[in-house]
Amino acid sequence: MVSGATGYVAGWLVKKLLEEGITVHAAVRSPDNKEKTGHLDLMAGETPGMIKYFKADLLSSGSYKDAMKGCELVFHTASPFTTHVDDPQKELIEPAVKGTINVLECVNNTPSVKRVVLTSSCAAIYTDAIDTINAPGGRITEDVWNTTASIDYQPYSLSKTLAEKKAWEIAGAQNQWDLVVINPSLVLGPPLNPKSTTSESFSILKQFGDGTMKWGAPKMGVGLVDVRDVAEAHFRAGFMPASNGRYITAAHSTDFLEMAKALHKKFGENYPLPKKAIPKWLLMLVGPMVNPLFSRKFIKNNINVPWRADNSKVKKELNMDFRPMVETLNDSFRVMVAEGAI
Ligand code: NAP
Repeated sequence: MVSGATGYVAGWLVKKLLEEGITVHAAVRSPDNKEKTGHLDLMAGETPGMIKYFKADLLSSGSYKDAMKGCELVFHTASPFTTHVDDPQKELIEPAVKGTINVLECVNNTPSVKRVVLTSSCAAIYTDAIDTINAPGGRITEDVWNTTASIDYQPYSLSKTLAEKKAWEIAGAQNQWDLVVINPSLVLGPPLNPKSTTSESFSILKQFGDGTMKWGAPKMGVGLVDVRDVAEAHFRAGFMPASNGRYITAAHSTDFLEMAKALHKKFGENYPLPKKAIPKWLLMLVGPMVNPLFSRKFIKNNINVPWRADNSKVKKELNMDFRPMVETLNDSFRVMVAEGAI
């Protein structure tokens, strides 16, 4: 079973499962909405696997019961992924935490389930780039938990932290199934449903392409990973018997300016991509007026601050290697251009 099968990350996971000839129980909010499921149907038609849809909502208790009936493996990817909210408690925290409880209570009542793979995030480990360099050893590892997010500051990160903690608590109270957690950094790469170019992941590329950043890009430290590699890590976490614990799934330590520069070779002539860094002092001055998320605190803790993480566990235990950053960025930008999103 895959919760949130309509999502950007889940799409590539469902594809992989179908290619392997597996029957996928897709638990989604709107099984009849072809704009959301059309790409999954198309893949099912071209692969040996099968897809069956089940209507389920994170906030409706017991609603994943039918979807996971007879399944051995549950991938729980569904969670609201947005930074633009009016009521973070209602729009982020409740669906993330109650949804995790809801899915895992259904798992507890479904004896066929032996393993749950949860899509958490590096956001459950850190809030600001400065947290990564302040971590023991100067980089985040799977031992680190986010202690700096709050309902008022980066509530999405808080939602992922609380949801993952709850998952470990529920997993620790039983021995029917084991929990494996994937913690991706910022995910980019081509979406299988072209409509996903509206997803939060793509907002930064949109700003590179539409001229918003033509005067400069913030050197904001981030981790980056390709959506196809994130799906592969989920698949391996599900099927490799020895996989265990959390996996930081981040391929590259980079920043927004470096990402923009990687696009220059293929797209620099036709799009007003940023070429230089926007100075931190200037951001301090205008940032909070341009975008309320760019508060002084955020700028201080992220701009010109490198992002450091140890990704050796996922490489070693799940035998992962990652696509080059330029491939991820070019493939993403190409889809956005084709879809008229830029
Ligand atoms: P996405 O495309 O927005 O997918 C989110 C999924 O969650 C969608 O399928 C959505 O369903 C579902 N969902 C949201 N609220 C729901 C609710 N109340 N009930 C049922 N389903 C609900 O974003 P994504 O990037 O693929 O995110 C997937 C997972 O990866 C999330 O757990 C996210 O936190 C995590 N993650 C993402 C990134 C990234 O950079 N993209 C990085 C780290 C972790 P609908 O289609 O019906 O809206």
